[in-house]
Amino acid sequence: MTINTPDERIQQPYSRVLLKLSGEQLSGQFDSGIDAEFCAWMAEEVKKVVDSGTQVIIMVGGGNYARGAQLAGHGIRRVTADHIGMLATMMNALALTDIFESCDIRTRCLSNIFAEQVAEPFVHRLANNHLKKGRVVIVAGGIGRPYLTTDTAAVSLALELDCQAVLKATKVDGVYDKDPAKHADAVKVSTISFQDAVTDDAIKVMDTAALGLALEHNLPIIIFDATKADNILLVTQGNAVGTKIH
Ligand code: UDP
Repeated sequence: MTINTPDERIQQPYSRVLLKLSGEQLSGQFDSGIDAEFCAWMAEEVKKVVDSGTQVIIMVGGGNYARGAQLAGHGIRRVTADHIGMLATMMNALALTDIFESCDIRTRCLSNIFAEQVAEPFVHRLANNHLKKGRVVIVAGGIGRPYLTTDTAAVSLALELDCQAVLKATKVDGVYDKDPAKHADAVKVSTISFQDAVTDDAIKVMDTAALGLALEHNLPIIIFDATKADNILLVTQGNAVGTKIH
């Protein structure tokens, strides 16, 4: 693996970012479902970013309820399993929207699956307008098609909305050259290439489709610990936090 140093991060803040929150993130201290207390804390973290002038769009995962790849089988077709997965992201997006609003953050939930009784449909211009007005946009339903994950949906949406980076929130502080749980001498890397992220088996931060799309369009992805206070703000201000894939 190539470890690129010195770090070459931007020194000025990003003006628009896509924050990817997995279902696992939203379940906080629990094994599944939503940890509302943790989500409220996360809302306050995002508020700092919005108040600093950076526009934020959030793609939520659904793995705390269902993942298509795991659900498929025993008569459940993969397409149906992915539909269920997308509905799981909808549950997270609705809950997170309410929690954000209860924290006085102007927020809109836009859905990429048809569900007009519960959320506005995702429309490019509408999302753009909300963001320009300083509202947080939370996207439900991934990209609305099966055989994809919300990581790939996140990259696709970040490109569609001219985001300068995808911030992938995790519970670890970045990417290591080997599994830190198994190797005491594992070293955190500050930057890695898309090539390494795809080919190095020790690095499993995102699915290949997501990385391939980001690589093709030169969209940086930052893997960082979002459970640490101020980290989201620090990343959006261009500080060296986590690992940057570029
Ligand atoms: N999904 C899908 N299309 C999309 C996004 C998501 O079919 O554009 C489904 C897929 O089954 C996936 C599930 O929704 O497993 C939940 O998303 P994901 O696994 O990415 O959630 P996370 O692991 O981030 O919590």
